[in-house]
Amino acid sequence: MNFDALFTDQIDQLKADGNYRYFAELERKCGKFPRAANHVEGEKRDVTVWCSNDYLGMGQNPLTIAAMCEAVQRTGTGAGGTRNISGTNHDHLLLERELADLHGKEAALLFTSGYVSNWAALSCLGSRLENCVILSDSGNHASMIEGIRHSKAKKVIWKHNDVADLEAKLRALPANVPKIVAFESVYSMDGDICPMREIVEVAEKYGAMTYLDEVHAVGLYGPRGGGISEREGLADRITLIEGTLGKAYGVVGGYITGSAPLCDFIRSFASGFIFTTALPPAVAAAARASIMHLKTSNDERTRHQAQVAKLRAGLDRAGIPHMMNESHIVPVMIKDPVKTRMLADYLMQEWDIYVQPINYPTVPKGTERLRFTPSPLHTDADIDHLVAALSHLWKQCAVSHAVA
Ligand code: PLP
Repeated sequence: MNFDALFTDQIDQLKADGNYRYFAELERKCGKFPRAANHVEGEKRDVTVWCSNDYLGMGQNPLTIAAMCEAVQRTGTGAGGTRNISGTNHDHLLLERELADLHGKEAALLFTSGYVSNWAALSCLGSRLENCVILSDSGNHASMIEGIRHSKAKKVIWKHNDVADLEAKLRALPANVPKIVAFESVYSMDGDICPMREIVEVAEKYGAMTYLDEVHAVGLYGPRGGGISEREGLADRITLIEGTLGKAYGVVGGYITGSAPLCDFIRSFASGFIFTTALPPAVAAAARASIMHLKTSNDERTRHQAQVAKLRAGLDRAGIPHMMNESHIVPVMIKDPVKTRMLADYLMQEWDIYVQPINYPTVPKGTERLRFTPSPLHTDADIDHLVAALSHLWKQCAVSHAVA
């Protein structure tokens, strides 16, 4: 059988639909964020990155770098094994204590990424809690969807951020089955924030456990960076808070936090925790330094919000429609994969602006967009440059101006 032909057929279909993914070959430059070099056919060119999830630039913060370098010198490069067999290092446990404290929980458990933490925790909970039903927000991330699917538990999807629908679905379930309400705080592509208090109250009313993904909020919201649950004073009412170390904290890795029995349960049964090499201790040390810094420093968060507001105001002045939300994510809807790609290419080639076109399956077909993520390190001049570029493009191209 010609397997390559089978692969190519599907790739060709992606290309025909305009959904084929081209990756920019970036070379990040330490201390220069959001500037990076873009490699194209052997040439290097400086660009300004406008779509990074290193939301606060902590990946190049001197404290994070120093902690990683110190730990590499002290412990070497790798963890030396799975957490079970020789891979649990002191730095992992220090980080887990830091994370438990961040969310005001008894315990925390580290994973190799946020994706793996969702996949492993939801798979484990859904498969081991007898007759468990998982009620999943329709906008949940692929990592949660895949974890739930793998658990083979009964899944009930509720309308995105619709608490009345969630309540109707909870009410319809037998009282005595374990129920898990799975949702996110900040949704990554639309940037909308969930009605957390109402969700928690409904879940409590029906005795359901709450599973909250704070991946796009940790480090960014709340007085110590504990996310929307901290900002809203709700962390102690949420059963499990999941997060990443790879976005606002600027490193890599994922985690869950919750009660000691909950974390011990996942530690003991989740295959995605047990059967993989632990994160390098130096990664854990860097993440811990980043979290500790953002627990006490509000400067990054304040400037972050200021730059987000400036970009929104600039877009408004230029008449460029963007999706309104209360977060730091600024989506400009294009609603066509080919046009989105074309605009992104043009921004890169003519204006040295890098923004990745967002297409299916990251977002539903027909909602393709440019997703801008200003950071505290984007200057006012960077914002003016981006707005000028987009204004120029808007005048040139017949882009749909309607915003969903
Ligand atoms: N959860 C959400 C909502 C995400 O958007 C992402 C990644 O973008 C993840 C989880 C996975 O986190 P990580 O990038 O650390 O694997």
